[in-house]
Amino acid sequence: MKVPLLDLCPQYQSLKGEILEAIAEVCESQRFILGAKVEKLEAELAAYCRSGACVGVTSGSDALLIALMAEQLKPGDEIITSPFTFFATVGAIVRAGAKPVFADIDPVTFNIDPAKVAEKITPKTRGIIPVHLFGQAADMDPIMSLAEKHGLFVIEDACQAIGAEYKGRRVGSIGDYGAFSFFPSKNLGCFGDGGAVTCRTAEKAQLLKIYRNHGQSKTYIHEYVGGNFRLDALQAAVLSVKLKALDSWSAARQRNAAEYAELFKDLEAKGVIVTPKCAAYDVRHIYNQYVIRVKGGKRDALKACLTEKEVGCAIYYPLSLHLQNCFRDLGGKPGDFPVTEAATAEVLALPIYPESTAEQRQYVRDCIAGFFA
Ligand SMILES: *Cc1c(COP(=O)(O)O)cnc(C)c1O
Repeated sequence: MKVPLLDLCPQYQSLKGEILEAIAEVCESQRFILGAKVEKLEAELAAYCRSGACVGVTSGSDALLIALMAEQLKPGDEIITSPFTFFATVGAIVRAGAKPVFADIDPVTFNIDPAKVAEKITPKTRGIIPVHLFGQAADMDPIMSLAEKHGLFVIEDACQAIGAEYKGRRVGSIGDYGAFSFFPSKNLGCFGDGGAVTCRTAEKAQLLKIYRNHGQSKTYIHEYVGGNFRLDALQAAVLSVKLKALDSWSAARQRNAAEYAELFKDLEAKGVIVTPKCAAYDVRHIYNQYVIRVKGGKRDALKACLTEKEVGCAIYYPLSLHLQNCFRDLGGKPGDFPVTEAATAEVLALPIYPESTAEQRQYVRDCIAGFFA
């Protein structure tokens, strides 16, 4: 048996007719940049995320960047975020001209620990970027309280978490902004790169739209230095079709996760792996990734074994961002973020995509059990 980490083909086959029709409409119109399809998607996403407004952009990375640009940061401004995230979260802070400041994570959710955020606030802090990693919401209430107390903005990095909920609220609707990615491997993926920013008001969306188009307020009149961050109509057309199926895919991922939890009971009782857990607060976890911890220093050996047996698996992420070469100047040292550093040595993502089968999960379980036998 073969179990890929992700297989997008069944999803495409299930919607192929409708998707090709939507693409054909764009081709017939020969209007490829922004336009009616993008506006339609923006309205649908704002409704889906229960946010005031939404602006379609080129990628999740640019969604983060454009939200930071709209905050008009100055050199020396500090933004607090997690060192256990995809590079783009921190890359955007540096690209926007600010200084990333890391706060360690919670060992259960892998998300930023609000108590650690509080310790990192200085007079230079301007904002906080919590990341809803793997599809589970960060603990937003204490983060929003800190933001309110210190006059900070909050950008939710919801790139892995579209449709996830925190105490009944959709991610992207809690902070000042939500950044979403439609990279193909995200729960809602397009046919290339794409992204979106949610925000509370139409006025803020208007500002984001100006930044999205080189800071132009009117044609060739530039208020700010923005960039070309425009979502294209082909991607929007695909996304509008797929959005209708997103909840059924997220429900399938949740069922798959529940099945794994059953299958892994004995291995977890033996202490060799730890299955992903939901937070103590109320969440809707949408399992963009199903990430176990492998104990006893055996993670890399298990990964090699699973790869050999044609079970797809991956390490998100193998190196804490404070230890990346490009952030050397920030002065990060091994031991600065012990919870993150422990996670980087133990995490392993297993196949969880909606159409994966019970037989495949049984095979994954048997391979892991065989490894530890
Ligand atoms: C995917 C991702 C991004 C970047 O999204 P792109 O669309 O690939 O640019 C940012 N943050 C996190 C947490 C992500 O998973």
